[in-house]
Amino acid sequence: MSIVVAKFGGTSVADYTAMSRCADIIIANPNTRIVVVSASSGVTNLLVELTQAQLDDERRQQLLKQIASIQYQILDQLGRPAEVAAQLDGVLSRIAMLSESLSRERCKATMDELLAQGEQCSAALFAAVLREKGEAASAFDVRQVMRTDSHFGRAEPQIEQVAALCAAHLAPLLAEQRIVTQGFIGADAQGATTTLGRGGSDYSAALLAEALKASAVEIWTDVAGIYTTDPRLAPNAQPIAEISFNEAAEMATFGAKVLHPATILPAVRQKIQVFVGSSKEPERGGTWIRHQVSDEPIYRAVAVRRDQTLLNLHSLQMLHAQGFLAETFATLARHKISVDLITTSEVNVSLTLDKTGSDSAGNNLLSEALLQELSQHCRVRVEDNLALVAIVGNKIASTPGVCRRVFEVLEPHNVRMICQGASPHNLCVLVAESEAAQVVRSLHENLFEGAR
Ligand code: ASP
Ligand code: MG
Repeated sequence: MSIVVAKFGGTSVADYTAMSRCADIIIANPNTRIVVVSASSGVTNLLVELTQAQLDDERRQQLLKQIASIQYQILDQLGRPAEVAAQLDGVLSRIAMLSESLSRERCKATMDELLAQGEQCSAALFAAVLREKGEAASAFDVRQVMRTDSHFGRAEPQIEQVAALCAAHLAPLLAEQRIVTQGFIGADAQGATTTLGRGGSDYSAALLAEALKASAVEIWTDVAGIYTTDPRLAPNAQPIAEISFNEAAEMATFGAKVLHPATILPAVRQKIQVFVGSSKEPERGGTWIRHQVSDEPIYRAVAVRRDQTLLNLHSLQMLHAQGFLAETFATLARHKISVDLITTSEVNVSLTLDKTGSDSAGNNLLSEALLQELSQHCRVRVEDNLALVAIVGNKIASTPGVCRRVFEVLEPHNVRMICQGASPHNLCVLVAESEAAQVVRSLHENLFEGAR
């Protein structure tokens, strides 16, 4: 059987009407056997607030009410099937209990357990919506198969164990029915609930697709695919029908909102094609991300990633020395910091931090402890309020004239850092956050709308 995994994000499962639309998309394709859902829109944010340290009782009650109201509204429109109502009651009292316990003791495992409850609700409700439409469907607790390490808030899935567990517990269920399961969450070897980091549901879908050797992953969201740039920044942005994995990975890495960057990894490993489309307007089509594509233009898209931090490290030890970079990167790795761009000179290294999917509790990655440790062997300067603009495409590093076309647009702007050449697929510049929108607009005009 050719299996398709379909993932629906928060806005796609925000309410009964949205869920019902998604159910129709699923029913239209008999191969869609696995449905991965996010929490209903807003619920994870409310749960994050419930994990916060300084929360007075009044606010806590308010948050609990808001969550209950989002979920019960869907249940009501379903006609309150008794079994789902009982499940939902259970989850909601568990949320209350967990947040109560967090107010007494800050425990990371409890936080993850709490954050996981949004997906529990949406999966139970969504399976009921499918059944209401006459489909054989049940909710499946993904923690039975999504084995991770115990890094709460940002857990790493254990790929081989996930595959083995899926083969044993999930694959046999698929012939008889469609399975609805939770994105974003997993469990460690002791059975404690973990989360994969904010926005992790796309990753969950790709991991399950990999484990089950699916033929496609569909990511249903609120935009009709990947565009040449953010249409809110450049109104002439165009949808892209087909794009390669390499280009899409670059785009995701550099801020295109439609995909969690890590989504791409499990799919790339198995050459599973990924579709991105709008669950609101499925008829508009979307973007297919494939291993091989028919057209490879030089300029594919302009992506922007805001809220960038530049770390500038200066040390005279670097002068004709070895090991400085090794030491620096070892320190960053110990603090679980992922580095994005790097430029070096004789005695300086500048790098930007990869903040996407910062850990589920929203902690700041650049801790005092890290800065202290770095300061022991170099002078550290931190610059904020920067944005990374990336031109994504093909053969960028081997096509004459690309730099001229890019830099003529950048003339009025201050470029803080440039990276080009490591990958044939991108050219990146770091500019002030306040200028980013204009830079994107001008680049899009020059590269995509002007005469080539
Ligand atoms: N519900 C989680 C979040 O809001 C995971 C996801 O939506 O992908 O981050
Ligand atoms: Mg999401």
